[in-house]
Amino acid sequence: MEIWPASDTTFTADNRHPNSIDAAYYFIFDGNEVLLEFNESDQWVPLSKLDDELREDSVRHYMGEFSGIDCFAVEAKLKSRSKGGLRSLIGQTDHFMFSLAGRAAQILDWYRTHQYCGKCGQKTEDHPEDRAMVCQQCSIHSYPRLSPSIITLVHNEGQVLLARNHRFPRGMYSTLAGFVEPGESIEETVHREVFEEVGVKVKNLEYLGSQPWAFPNSLMLGFLAEYDSGEIVLQEEEIADAQWFSCQSLPMIPGKVAISRWIIDTYLQRMGLNISLL
Ligand SMILES: [Zn+2]
Repeated sequence: MEIWPASDTTFTADNRHPNSIDAAYYFIFDGNEVLLEFNESDQWVPLSKLDDELREDSVRHYMGEFSGIDCFAVEAKLKSRSKGGLRSLIGQTDHFMFSLAGRAAQILDWYRTHQYCGKCGQKTEDHPEDRAMVCQQCSIHSYPRLSPSIITLVHNEGQVLLARNHRFPRGMYSTLAGFVEPGESIEETVHREVFEEVGVKVKNLEYLGSQPWAFPNSLMLGFLAEYDSGEIVLQEEEIADAQWFSCQSLPMIPGKVAISRWIIDTYLQRMGLNISLL
């Protein structure tokens, strides 16, 4: 099984603008919407240069270098241009571009929401070196925010426990997920979330990998968890249904861009099933 996410050794993060730019990728957002312009093969690619319309009033953040090409997150007014939510890139671009677009979205969201100090209300200033906004009065540094969350597949001798959230498309089931609370270890979150959502106890947690998920600032930590005890009891405000499924007869599950799918595929492969048939 490949490492999740495909290890991106060609990206070097940096927040200091380069002195000169030969070629660049501009990930351009207007609020939560990204500029959608496709090449001849219908693949989404960020713009290589900013035209006059976009240069005006735009805010640019240097993100780093991807395969020798400088990358910028840009906030601009996309007046009559084609745009859509970040999710509209799923299936329209490769893993690397999707992940860089997610990175850009998070940097811009942080910058947009940290223009004033949360304590005294004074206007913040850019830190001269770090990616941080600073209140000179309180010396508070605000870095881009991350919200760790867990995502876990509960399994029991070849069966997997999948649930559907009320918000899921019809027929879609997935792994269980939830945010880490202050003061909680990641492992405690797995036990708590599984018990809250479906009422069962788990044991033998196994960490598999993580995925940044920019909706809006999540870092998903993926686990396998072995069933221990209990019957399924739904947390009805959140979960519409949860069931044990045999690996041979799974319901509709998320696409391969999501870590939930990778966790499921990893388990199926361990059970000796050919996941390419799914
Ligand atoms: Zn302040």
